[in-house]
Amino acid sequence: MKKADLIITDISYILTMDENFTEYKDSDIVIKDGKIIDIGKNKKDEYFGKTISGKNKIAIPGLINTHTHAAMTLLRGYGSDNPLKVWLEEYIWPAEGKLVSYEFVKDGTDIACYEMLRNGVTTFVDMYFFEDAVAQSVKEVGMRAVLCTGILDFPTPGAKNADEGIAKTEDFIKHFEKDENIFPAVGPHAPYTCSPDTLKKAFNLAEKYDVLYHIHVSETQFEVNDIKERYGNTPVKHLEKVGVLNERVLAAHMVHPTEEEIDILAEKNVKVAHCPESNLKLASGVAPIPKMIEKGVTVAIGTDGTASNDDLDIIGEISTAAKLHKGYTLNPTVLNAKEALKMATLDGAKAIRKEDKIGSLEIGKFADIVLMDINDPHLQPVFDPYTQIVYSSNGKDVDTVIINGDIKVLNKKVLVLNKKELLEKAQKWKKKVLED
Ligand SMILES: [Zn+2]
Repeated sequence: MKKADLIITDISYILTMDENFTEYKDSDIVIKDGKIIDIGKNKKDEYFGKTISGKNKIAIPGLINTHTHAAMTLLRGYGSDNPLKVWLEEYIWPAEGKLVSYEFVKDGTDIACYEMLRNGVTTFVDMYFFEDAVAQSVKEVGMRAVLCTGILDFPTPGAKNADEGIAKTEDFIKHFEKDENIFPAVGPHAPYTCSPDTLKKAFNLAEKYDVLYHIHVSETQFEVNDIKERYGNTPVKHLEKVGVLNERVLAAHMVHPTEEEIDILAEKNVKVAHCPESNLKLASGVAPIPKMIEKGVTVAIGTDGTASNDDLDIIGEISTAAKLHKGYTLNPTVLNAKEALKMATLDGAKAIRKEDKIGSLEIGKFADIVLMDINDPHLQPVFDPYTQIVYSSNGKDVDTVIINGDIKVLNKKVLVLNKKELLEKAQKWKKKVLED
C-alpha cells in the first residue's frame, strides 16, 4: 500500500476532459502533494489515506472562468435593462467613481470567490482595479487566478493615466512572478480606450515578463464603427497593425469579427473568451463561435462581471453557449455538450497558457476537481454524463470542489468563506451605492 493525501472512491463517472475525452466509470482518483497521482478502477486498493466517496457523482476538472470583473458582485443587477450608454454613464461609472477602493474590491471579490467556488470554478481571469485586493481574496480562499489591472488612457480608480497603470502592472507582475496560484497579467482595457501607443507599451511589458495580454475586443458594433472611424480598420485588423497579436493574447467577447479577422485570430493563435450571457443581456450581439472553432481558434468561456450577467455560474454559461449557437445557426449539431464543457476546462486552460498544469484530470496535473451530485431526480436517468452537466444541471449541483488537493466545498457548502459575513458586506455596500 502506498500513501496518498486524498482518495476519491467509486466515482460514478470521471470525465477527464483530456484531448481524447477519456472517461472512467465507477473508478477512483488518488491525490498526493496537490497533484493527481493515479486514476482508474480499484486504485483505492493500492493506496491508504483520507477518503471521500464519489458515488452518484460525476468528476470533472475544476472549471475555468476566463473573463470576469469579480468585485462587480457589489453592483449586481444595478441599472439593468437600460441601453448600454445609459447603464454605464448613469449607473456603473458613477458608482465605481464614488466607491471603488481596496476595501470595495476586497469585499466584492470575497463574494465572487464564494459564488465561483459554489459553482465549481477553481480558476478565473480578472480585470479590474486594486488587483492586490483581488490577490488577497484569492490567496485567502486558495483559488487560482490570472489577475490584471485595467489600463486605460483616462484616469481610473487605480491610476491617473495609462503610463501609471503600466508601471503599477509591472510592480504587480514582479511581486507575483513566481507565485503558484496567482498569475499576473497585463490588461489594456480595449482598443477604444487605449491608444496604439498604450496598446504597444502594454504588449511589450507582457512580452518582457512572458505573461498573458488580456483585452476586450470587438464587443459591440459601436466599438467596430468607432475604431474604423479613428484608425480606418476593424478592431482585430487594427490590433494586428499595431503589432499586439500573438499566442499570449486572450481577447474577451469578439462578437463582431469579420471572416478575414477570424483568419487572423487563427493564424496568430489569439485565444477568445466567449461571454454569451453578457453579450445577450447588454444586447451586444452573438459572437460567431462555431465559425471560430471551425477555423481553429481556441475559444474558452467567461461570465463577464455580475453587473452584466448577472451571475458567475459557468455551467449556466456553457449551457447558454451550446443552445445559443444551435439556435442562431439553425444547426443542432454545433457546439455539442462535450465541446461546450471543453470550453470551461481544457480550452480554458489553453486560453491562459496553463494547459500543462490544469484543465483536465490527468496524472501529474494539479488536483483541481469538481464533483457534481447526480443523486437528484432532476439529473436522472443519466444516458450521457456530458449532456447531463451541460443541459440538465446548473452550478448549484456542484457538491465538492477540490483545489490543489484541498477540499474547498463539501456537501454543497463552501468551507473557506463565512456566508453570514458576506451577506453583511453586500448590505453595507448596497447602502453606499444608493447614498448621495
Ligand atoms: Zn469585461
